[in-house]
Amino acid sequence: MVMQYLSTRGYQAASSFSDILLGGLAPDGGLYLPSHYPQVSSEELDQWRDLSYAGLASAILKKFATDIPPSDIDQLTARTYTAAVYCNARADEDTARITPLRSLETPGDLSLILQALSNGPTLAFKDMAMQLLGNLFEYTLAKQQAELNIFGATSGDTGSAAEYAMRGKRGIRVFMLSPHQKMSAFQCAQMFSLQDPNIFNIAVKGVFDDCQDMVKAVSNDLEFKARQKIGTVNSINWARVVAQVVYYFRGYLSATTNNEQCVSFTVPSGNFGNICAGHIARMMGLPISKLVVATNENDVLHEFFQTGVYRVRKSAETLHTSSPSMDISKASNFERFIHDLLEGDRDRVRALFMKVETQGGFDLSGKPGSDGDEFKRVAEFGFTSGKSVHADRLSTIRDVYSRHGLMIDTHTADGVKVAREHWEPGVPMIVLETALPAKFSETLREALGCDAERPAGFEHIESLPQRFDVMEADVAAIKTYIAAHTGL
Ligand SMILES: *Cc1c(COP(=O)(O)O)cnc(C)c1O
Repeated sequence: MVMQYLSTRGYQAASSFSDILLGGLAPDGGLYLPSHYPQVSSEELDQWRDLSYAGLASAILKKFATDIPPSDIDQLTARTYTAAVYCNARADEDTARITPLRSLETPGDLSLILQALSNGPTLAFKDMAMQLLGNLFEYTLAKQQAELNIFGATSGDTGSAAEYAMRGKRGIRVFMLSPHQKMSAFQCAQMFSLQDPNIFNIAVKGVFDDCQDMVKAVSNDLEFKARQKIGTVNSINWARVVAQVVYYFRGYLSATTNNEQCVSFTVPSGNFGNICAGHIARMMGLPISKLVVATNENDVLHEFFQTGVYRVRKSAETLHTSSPSMDISKASNFERFIHDLLEGDRDRVRALFMKVETQGGFDLSGKPGSDGDEFKRVAEFGFTSGKSVHADRLSTIRDVYSRHGLMIDTHTADGVKVAREHWEPGVPMIVLETALPAKFSETLREALGCDAERPAGFEHIESLPQRFDVMEADVAAIKTYIAAHTGL
């Protein structure tokens, strides 16, 4: 039986994993979900305890990508999850574990554990999924004898993860817009030092919103988009979510010795992509007690998980914080959870997310005049939340450094702060480390008075030769640029 994928809003043409791999939203504007969540038995979990990370990734991917031959999946994951790709571990970490755990503190029956997800090439957790996506895309495009031109805008993290995943891949080019002279020197160096001929960095004279507007304008030109074979790799991509499910299993299996035990996860959250994978792992039967959503000052998700009201923010209300990868106005993967919360009632999901577009949100609190009362069921899914602000980040970074000699980044600090508000005796609390501190050295300096440590090989990244083009915020010009480089 081939696993089928359906839109959260009811679009019905059944699609396989490979059918939806290269695309984004479903034609009706919804997000793809499998027709059901495959279940993992206790026997299977036991068998998985001794697998390598790549082996575990294979076992999980095979349950979702049922239209790809299993031996091909083995090869793709073996090529992706290697110690050479995830080589930026701290000196005392075991690189071969890919996402090593580190026990932070154990007062009484409480235990706080950090799971390192940022040892990949761009030092952030997006590499965990994006590196697999690069290999899956190349594999699928070769089979279809097709090519793909990825076009996107970035203010830092996502763009660099995409470029490092797609560099040198056959059949793929990446055109990435970024705001000229608005990114940190480290971020520019990471992206612009790539010399691969299939990577095109375009620095736009403007701000990030100008870049995003250009991407929207090009995407709305359907004829151009089709002719130039334009695609994206944003966080709603289903394969990215599945790839992220793997490290929840790995974290659980590494932190426990038998399947009677539970763990909880705290996840620094923005677009709800990372923690959505945790929700799916839990739906598959992984013994997770709590899934704690940690937000920064942009607390759209915290508000929902406290009140049942989902209220997206306007651009002017969206703050620039020192954990910038969580600065969101709405959470693009949230619709997947709402679909499950509403027990797959696609008509209601469609109505609620239409309301987001027309009225800026919805209310499931059950109060008079609300759109439903499902908020009372949120706890059944393990979800809870907390919020952390700049002062919390600084004090958490200082505290973890002084007590453990460990530097953590600003996003992870949000996670640690919130995790300590939610831990339970006897249930290990795993905080996902979503970036290494070297990426956010300005705030690290503010907190600690010294620069963040850098992994080997990154010491002089700013002095490497850079390759990028500068362009006005001009839609016609970017179209000409793309066409000139694709030859299509
Ligand atoms: C992208 C990102 C996040 C947020 O992840 P979501 O999947 O959007 O919730 C958190 N921390 C870092 C460092 C990131 O790059």
